Amino acid sequence: MTRRKLVAGNWKMHGLRAQLKEIAAIEAAAAAHPHVDVALCVPTTLIAAAVDHARAVRIGAQDVHENEHGPHTGCVSAAMLVEVGAQTVIVGHSERRADQNETSHDAWAKAAAARKQGMGVILCVGETEAERNAGRAERVVQAQIEKSVPEDADGDWFTLSYEPRWAIGTGRTPTTEEIASIHAIARAKLRMMVSDAADRIRILYGGSVTGDNAAKILAVENVDGALVGGASLTAEKFVPIIEAAA
Ligand code: PGA
Repeated sequence: MTRRKLVAGNWKMHGLRAQLKEIAAIEAAAAAHPHVDVALCVPTTLIAAAVDHARAVRIGAQDVHENEHGPHTGCVSAAMLVEVGAQTVIVGHSERRADQNETSHDAWAKAAAARKQGMGVILCVGETEAERNAGRAERVVQAQIEKSVPEDADGDWFTLSYEPRWAIGTGRTPTTEEIASIHAIARAKLRMMVSDAADRIRILYGGSVTGDNAAKILAVENVDGALVGGASLTAEKFVPIIEAAA
């Protein structure tokens, strides 16, 4: 089963309007490689403006509230994100699990809310360094998948991203063997949950992906793309990753 590669950027809490100038060159690279899907998950404040700069690049958000509306000060619903042009959203990112105490159940609820509004979802899972050192990486990832992947997950809207927490923003990555092992386990777990749809669901790798290591990581079996933080902030760093996926 061939799955189109997806290269998704996560700008995190970086970027004022001046940052939007990076999108033009990223847009050109995405248009030049139509067999690769490219997305940029920008800060909420930039979504509407980013959409004006993007055509081949899908613009996404980095979080969504699980409810449709209500007394949730400071939060944003899926319908609000869709209204300003967001097509996809990251849920369950380890920074939100750590900083906002989000659980796998929260990620599940957020994914369902986004799906209801027709959004794509990139759901993140991944172990801490202590969990890996204790030999528990596989079990942790399996448990997160079990609790957070929606029962109707399918490749046309749902993407899983394996992001070992200790690899995020550190310049350290697992070996290709370690990535292959977790991705195979993730695929098997998805198969148990959503049967044939598991083969249509893309599984991204995230954590210190750069233009230097992207080709090697993207060649690993069951790696269907990359979720990129730091190296997505400039076209200079992000475009080589798109090219590596092509
Ligand atoms: P990084 O972040 O590429 O800066 O390591 C990845 C992520 O958090 O999605």
